[in-house]
Amino acid sequence: MEIIETAELLLRERALCNHCLGRQFAMLGHGLSNEARGRAILLLLVIEGSKRIHEGDDSGKNILKYAANHGFSKLAITTLKSAGIIIEETENSCYLCGDVFKSLDELVHQIIKKLSKFEVESFLIGIKGSSKIEEKEDELRVNFKLKWGESIRNELSREIGKRIMKIIGKNVDFEHPNILVLVDPFMNRILLEANPLFIFGKYRKLVRGIPQSKWLCRQCKGEGCPNCAGTGKMYQDSVEELISKPLLKKTKGRIAKLHAAGREDIDAKVLGLGRPFVIEVKKPKMWKIDLEKLEEEINQNADGKIEVDTLHLSSKEIVKKLKSSGQSTKVYRVLVEFEQDISEKLIYEVLEGLIGKLIHQMTPSRVMHRRPLKLRKKRVYNLEFKRLKSNCIEMIIRCQGGLYIKELLSGDDGRTTPSVSEICGISAKCLEIDVIGIEIGEL
Ligand SMILES: [Zn+2]
Ligand SMILES: [Zn+2]
Repeated sequence: MEIIETAELLLRERALCNHCLGRQFAMLGHGLSNEARGRAILLLLVIEGSKRIHEGDDSGKNILKYAANHGFSKLAITTLKSAGIIIEETENSCYLCGDVFKSLDELVHQIIKKLSKFEVESFLIGIKGSSKIEEKEDELRVNFKLKWGESIRNELSREIGKRIMKIIGKNVDFEHPNILVLVDPFMNRILLEANPLFIFGKYRKLVRGIPQSKWLCRQCKGEGCPNCAGTGKMYQDSVEELISKPLLKKTKGRIAKLHAAGREDIDAKVLGLGRPFVIEVKKPKMWKIDLEKLEEEINQNADGKIEVDTLHLSSKEIVKKLKSSGQSTKVYRVLVEFEQDISEKLIYEVLEGLIGKLIHQMTPSRVMHRRPLKLRKKRVYNLEFKRLKSNCIEMIIRCQGGLYIKELLSGDDGRTTPSVSEICGISAKCLEIDVIGIEIGEL
């Protein structure tokens, strides 16, 4: 069927604004708004009606009446008037949208006012409350065999997005918008959802005695008590807090969460190239920050406790990859003390007994209270040693991530096997441990 015939049939039955009329032909003609499309079709209808009147065809009057009453065409009214036909203006509203497009500018104004509390670089519009209309629209499509249309949800989000872009000069981003603007144009409701900010980096922990994440006081669970001197924490600092503090100040976010490729013990340093992490700022008010400056501020503020570098913007997807990188290779430097002097020969026996071997580890007794009981099998790839004293050596251990190193040395009363203690028959313990390499591969 011709477009003009379809439009005539549509307007005979239903009142439709230019947006809703044009939207039924949305796929036809590129770079055109539905409003312009609807306006053009309506204009063509008026011209067609006028032509028929000139030819003495009475159907022309009807076309013009539909265009006037159901298409809201002023031109149809004046054309009818010039042919000597006066019709009363009716007070119809659009059958589909209920004239919602008329109040779009006011809605956009309200959204921009709300957005002004943030410094956004990008946004995305989500439309709510349109499902009833979409049902009506589907029905219309079936009844009039319309096949070129799009949904009102699409048009509303595009139209609102376009107008906001024009005014504030920021772009719509479908994948990673800073803010999701949820709009119900029918109930005039606006809800802003600020997306988290993700920043990737690597940290080095230069001192011992700092946990990776904030550790709540065991007695008060964070409320503050005499035991924790009112801080609510077991430790004054954590890597997480040292990184978060300057970042939260800059982004005016509420909280920040550290996601890292594994974690080290409180008493372990992290050296070498550092441990990869992503810090997530929840509900930020600002997304564009100078990362070089941030790096400086974090490092200055941390006062030699930690150091971060290679900061760059990241995403939720990278967090997932980071978390599943448990199989990555780790390199440790440990100071091992034996209960009695150890011979060179025995040390070589230890190396031989561990290099390339799969270590069976039951959850270590020291973490039993917070980790489920489970058997882990992790491989030692390589071991090197340097003798420091007759009963003390430094070892470089290259192994699969997730291997508990202190237990690899002590044997944890047989819960880890084979172990250094088990092989040489002399009880060994870890005096110092540093993470000096974390190889997580491509993210
Ligand atoms: Zn409409
Ligand atoms: Zn406490």
